[in-house]
Amino acid sequence: MSSLRPGNPACYNPLTMSQPRKKIIFSAMQATGRLHLGNLEGALRNWVRLQDEYELYAGIVDLHSLTTTFDDTSEVLENVREAAIDYLAAGLDPDKTAIVIQSWVPAHAELHTLLSMITPVGWLERVPTYKEKREQLHIANPSYGLLGYPVLMAADILVYRADVVPVGRDQVPHLELTREIARRFNHLYGNILPEPQSLLTEFALLPGLDGRKMSKSYDNCIYLSDSPDDVRRKVPDMFTDPTKLRKNDPGHPDQCPVYAYHLAYSPDTAPEVKADCEAGKLGCVDHKRQLADILIEAMTSYWERRAAIAADPDRLDAVLQDGARRARDKTAETMDLVWKAMKLR
Ligand code: ADP
Repeated sequence: MSSLRPGNPACYNPLTMSQPRKKIIFSAMQATGRLHLGNLEGALRNWVRLQDEYELYAGIVDLHSLTTTFDDTSEVLENVREAAIDYLAAGLDPDKTAIVIQSWVPAHAELHTLLSMITPVGWLERVPTYKEKREQLHIANPSYGLLGYPVLMAADILVYRADVVPVGRDQVPHLELTREIARRFNHLYGNILPEPQSLLTEFALLPGLDGRKMSKSYDNCIYLSDSPDDVRRKVPDMFTDPTKLRKNDPGHPDQCPVYAYHLAYSPDTAPEVKADCEAGKLGCVDHKRQLADILIEAMTSYWERRAAIAADPDRLDAVLQDGARRARDKTAETMDLVWKAMKLR
């Protein structure tokens, strides 16, 4: 599909002989809470790698946060700013990448409204995360917005006419719904919205302190805004292999969150630790002490960058204003095509 589109990276414009354009990526995180190590390792570091090769729009999707935090919105704005600080501290370069706060770019909401007209409710009711969220967050009376979460996500991506979306293996089905919505739009109104391709990110999910996936929704995180003291306080509470009750019991590192972190943050020393744990030579308390040191060492330069960015709110504001301006320009092009295709202009 997209290879036939004019302006595709593979095509030169024969009239202008212009260079092929960069492929476009839109990817985003919610502002339901502070970002955590899983967000850094599983998403942000990948975006930083991609920003040279692609035209990257890095979203902070505050409207999505409202699907679960509408009753108390007092922290959303602060979470948005903190996320922007993390984007920069992780190495997103605002000269290359537009950092986009979703609600500052009205085209996201406009396209969402239009796409919601053509998206069957049955498609949304079948999305597994809709059921999971209702159960996990004990939502007895789900809102229209929660059901429509994937339509807003589709609008976020399609409004940039993104070519690719970086996703973890578990998120491929979400993107499939975006592609279905694009197909339906194109079928009804003409070929305007390219179906984005998934760019698979191979990164094992980081477990949280309790052994489940680290997630803002589970309150089991080491946050990027945590201090060294927070890390020293949290690591001793981490779940370990439940069959290793005493120091000398042989452990099963492959089932232990502490080892998963060790592998991610100190791969060189991991084999020795694995052998010692399996042989009953290394107890969990000692291993956790080692891990806290490893994490603090690994995060120190990140924390320093973070503090420097937070200390310059004027620059942060300028970065966010500029990102919104670039995003408004880009999305206006799409909306112009969309309104015309729908015969509303
Ligand atoms: P959360 O579950 O904390 O709300 P999101 O669903 O907003 O996180 O995820 C934002 C990005 O961070 C996604 O690209 C996701 O793959 C990545 N991510 C989230 N949690 C983890 C984790 N525990 N390990 C690795 N990557 C993660």
